[in-house]
This record gives sequence, C-alpha cells and structure tokens, in this order.
Amino acid sequence: MVADGANIDRDGSVMTTGQRSSDELYLTAQWGRVRGRLQSEVGDVEYRTWLRQMSLGGLNGDEVTVRLPTRFLRDWVRTHYGDRLNALWQAENRRVRRVDIRVGDGAFGDGPAEPVAIAPPPIAVHAVSERGDARAETAVALDPRFTFECFVVGKPNEFAYACARRVAERPASVGFNPLFLYGGVGLGKTHLMNAIAWELTRNGDASRGGAPVSVAYMSAEKFMYRFIAAIRSQSTMEFKEQLRSVDVLMIDDLQFLIGKDATQEEFFHTFNALVDAGKQIVVSADKSPSDLSGLEDRVRTRLGCGMVADLHATTYELRISILEAKAARAGVAVPGKVLEFLAHKITSNVRELEGALNRLIAHANLFGRAVTLEATQEVLHDILKAHDRRVTIEEIQRKVAEHWNIRLTDMSSARRARAVARPRQVAMYLAKQLTSRSLPEIGRRFGNRDHTTVMHAVSRVAELIERDAAFAEDVELLRRMLEN
Ligand code: ADP
Ligand code: MG
Repeated sequence: MVADGANIDRDGSVMTTGQRSSDELYLTAQWGRVRGRLQSEVGDVEYRTWLRQMSLGGLNGDEVTVRLPTRFLRDWVRTHYGDRLNALWQAENRRVRRVDIRVGDGAFGDGPAEPVAIAPPPIAVHAVSERGDARAETAVALDPRFTFECFVVGKPNEFAYACARRVAERPASVGFNPLFLYGGVGLGKTHLMNAIAWELTRNGDASRGGAPVSVAYMSAEKFMYRFIAAIRSQSTMEFKEQLRSVDVLMIDDLQFLIGKDATQEEFFHTFNALVDAGKQIVVSADKSPSDLSGLEDRVRTRLGCGMVADLHATTYELRISILEAKAARAGVAVPGKVLEFLAHKITSNVRELEGALNRLIAHANLFGRAVTLEATQEVLHDILKAHDRRVTIEEIQRKVAEHWNIRLTDMSSARRARAVARPRQVAMYLAKQLTSRSLPEIGRRFGNRDHTTVMHAVSRVAELIERDAAFAEDVELLRRMLEN
C-alpha cells in the first residue's frame, strides 16, 4: 500500500499502474538496503528486538513513511534510530528529505512482519530469604562501593542522607511517600539509591526484626526497556504483577521518562497501585518535581507529595572530607596540601573529584612515588586545565594593586619597598593558586623574575596567612573576588 499521493508524480500527472509498480519495486529495493545497513550497524539482536517489525509506508513527496505496529515501538525507534534512518534513506534516495515514523502496519512491499517473542529481562527484584541473606533474582548488580558507610555526609547532603537512611531502616513505616531525591550530576543520587537497596537486601526491615523486604531497583531507562520488552512478548501482565508485588520500588534518573508518554503512563499506574497498597517508592531525578517540565502534571503532583530532598552542590569542607575518606580507604597517604589543592580546583561534582584522586593514587602506585603537590599538578594537568577558573594573571595583578592602592606597573617593577613588595607577593601567590601557570611563567609576568622568587613569595604568603588573621582575611577576600 502506498501512502496517498505517492501515485501522483511530482509534475502532477497520475501515474499508470505500470509506472507505479516499477516505482514500488525501486522503493522496495531501496528499503531493503536501508534495513540491511541498519541491521549491520546495530547488530542482529538489537535489530530483531526493535527494528524487525518496521514496514515501509511509502514515499510521499520528499517524505518516507516507516511504520511500526505499536506506539511503544514507534517511540523507541524514533528516539534511538530516527536519525540513522533519516541518514540512510537520504543516502539511498536523493528525493528523500524526511522519514516519518508512525504507528500502522500496512506493509508496503515486504509482507506482514512475523511477531517476535522475546522474553523480558528479569526485573531487578532482590528478595531476602528467611535467614536474611540476599538472594538477588536479577542481573542488576548493586554496587558494593555505594553504601551508607562510604557516603560522606556534610551540610549539602545531610538531609537527603537522613531521608534515605529512614527508608532503609523502616521501609514499612517511613512516614512519607515517595522519597524524591534530586540534584545535579555526580552529587550522589545513585550512590544513595544503591545504598538503600543494598541495606534492605542485606538486613531486611530492621524495624521489624529483619523481616524480608523485596526491592525493585532500576533506572528509568531500564524500566522503559523492560516495559517495552514485556509488551513485545505479550507478558505485560506478568511485568505489572512482578512490579506490584514488591515492597519498595526504586527508580533512578526519572527525567528519562520525559517525552516517553506510554512508559510514563505505566509508571504512574504502578506508582499509584503501590502507594495504595502501602508500599514505599523512591525516585531520583536531576530536577525537583516542579521543575521537571515535560512530565505530565498529575505525575509531577504525585511525585511532589512525599518528601523532596535536594542534594546541593558540594562545599569546600565536604570536598575535603570526601577526599580524606577516599584516600584513607585506598590506604594511600595524600598530604593535606594536595587535598586542599584538589578541593579548591575541582568544584564541579564528586565524580570528577573522585576521578582526579583515583588517578593520583594509581599514578603513585604505578611509579612507587609519594603523592606530592608537584606530581599532582603534573598528573592532573589536563583536568586542572579544564577546571581552570580562567582567572588571568593580569586580572590578579589589577585586583591586588587596587586593593592595596599601588600602581599596576609596580607588579613588574624592581621596587622593593614593603608597601609594594608585599602586594606583589600576594599576587604571585594567587597566580599560583588560581591559574595553572608554572612558577617560571608566573615569574616572567612579574617583570621577568626568577621562579625561585615566585616560590619564595608563595611560601612567605602562606606563612603570613597562618600568622596574621587580618592578612589572611585580605587574601581570602581577594581570592573570592577573583573567583566570581
Ligand atoms: P549521581 O547519581 O547524582 O549523578 P553518583 O551517585 O553516581 O551521582 O555519584 C558519583 C560518584 O561520586 C560516585 O562514585 C559516588 O560514590 C561519589 N559520591 C557522591 N557523593 C558522595 C559522598 N557524599 N560521599 C562519598 N562518595 C560520593
Ligand atoms: Mg546517577
């Protein structure tokens, strides 16, 4: 079946039956090649799972229609293969500008696709036996590193942590439902989710003598994948029953469901069924419920009904504590200076901070050398560059000169009077701290001074900061001004 209009040629004349069928043949051959290429690109398994039921709707003007039997498959193919289909079609047929992927099964040229039965992957249900030891019925492994014990608590995350602990300790009487954890990337959402699941699987419900608790924990993406697979294998009832039989349902990265209407709908029903049955839900996302625009209103409303806990950006203190904990766990002695340096420089999130520390430790182990500040700067050169706050030496000189009311030219002059020399030293110190310039480079920018002069300035200022609180405050103030 050819879509309406495809039997009218571009010049407007109605094609004869003969022309049409030869066009059909062409199109069918092209479609065969597009499918073949896609199959070799994505591999057989993926192809069979998602793409085998595609059929060609026809060519209408510059638009090719590809059909799939269900909305779910259509959505999946659109998001995951839409761009590739477009590109492959355009390469195959110059007339094609767009590929429209829609629901329908009127196969054109390649007969009805045979139904494919695929068993859905097991749901991440962790059951706990009578004896309390974990019997994981699933391939979804919990990460043993992500426990409460390994989670460093500080001001920015203490509330989220307390809420997570509460769920882990008394899942049958939490007092709020759902728990909604949110925060930017790398701030510990998955860690906390994992810690809850881990704790419940290991110890059961501690408030009820360790009674077994069944937990389903998965990412929203997995949820969608399993849901679709269940539809394809006509086992949605089982899927629903499995999910609705758990005590605690945990979905990570819920923002993934934005725009995935059918899966969202299913999640909403599961959510309601579980809440009605008095079961606990924990959800994480990168934004608060009210900021998750794109989720249906009723879903957002329900999500916001329980406890909403925010993981804030890390503070300097928390970063130091995390670094200390991780270094201790790794059994490597990392000097305080190095930890401070890292905590100052890598402020984006815990994942990056951790990555930097791991690299340092690996390097130290590999070469059997102690971790030093110099080595740190060398090993992490690329990371530090990316995190460089892009404060320039000129800026530092200007701000410092303004602060102590001296001329900018005095930063480079040979004058040694204390009133000039001290601010110059502070500027060198800040240049060392806030930029990734080397000592010789800094020296050059301060009237071609030697790198030992810069080194001396840096240690002199550090010393003064220790001894003189007012001076320390001045330097700290300057630093903050420059960082913002
Ligand atoms: P998110 O899911 O929010 O993107 P993750 O939970 O994956 O972030 O955390 C990223 C990394 O940082 C993980 O290795 C995690 O263990 C670590 N991490 C985050 N916060 C903390 C913390 N407070 N204490 C210890 N490790 C943390
Ligand atoms: Mg995560």
